Amino acid sequence: MFGWLRSRRRRSIQDRPWPPVWEDILRRNLRQMQWLAADERERLRAWVAVFIAEKRFEGCRGMTIDDEVRVSIAGQAGLIVLGMPDEFFDRLQSVLVYPGDYLVSRSTPLEGGGELQWQEPRLGETWNGGSMVLSWPRVVEGGRLRDGPRSVVIHECAHVIDLLDGEIDGVPPLASATARREWMRGMADCRERFAEALDEGRFVAFDDYAAEGPGEFFAVASECFFQDPHRLHRYDRDLYALMAEAWLQDPKARVPVQRAR
Ligand SMILES: [Zn+2]
Repeated sequence: MFGWLRSRRRRSIQDRPWPPVWEDILRRNLRQMQWLAADERERLRAWVAVFIAEKRFEGCRGMTIDDEVRVSIAGQAGLIVLGMPDEFFDRLQSVLVYPGDYLVSRSTPLEGGGELQWQEPRLGETWNGGSMVLSWPRVVEGGRLRDGPRSVVIHECAHVIDLLDGEIDGVPPLASATARREWMRGMADCRERFAEALDEGRFVAFDDYAAEGPGEFFAVASECFFQDPHRLHRYDRDLYALMAEAWLQDPKARVPVQRAR
């Protein structure tokens, strides 16, 4: 679609009255809403309206899709792009929602022929940025800040942003080629410190799944950056600064140090 046509359509979506029931859902399922400034809340509402109008939500394994599901997912997704006003995840077309963690069939070829098959539980995933799969109970836990520094929505959306420049390599779009080089160097140091801390059994701020590779490190660190920014800042100031540069936000300025559990 032409850019101007899309912008015009988005403006008309944003001009529609904001349903009071959506506000109730955000209040219930997006704890972070209470810490946003008035203009940020306004921007978040406008973003949520566009996201819901443009993406196809599909219920899997008997999951019913209603406003609660749509608004709760869109709210967390919109929170992380508050610093990127024109970012609407254009490549993302559908959001698939399961009523719980789901199983994926996996197989590995065996030496000497045949293959080993097993079922791997998942709570979310992203396929080439075109669709996202989420476990509904995990969406709710993340939105209500009941899963520590974790959020499956933020995790998968971080992969979508990471993918914007071609592949999931842990490097989101940055201001310039120089900024990108510096940022990558900084992140490599952070990953090294993280791996060392894990080896030595020292405190790390987020899940060791981050050690799977640069893409997962970026996604898991992004979860912590938004969900518990003070924890990330205490753990590694440099990593916090790199996240702030990538997301164009400073969540620790708004989230209280002792956020209610
Ligand atoms: Zn991931």
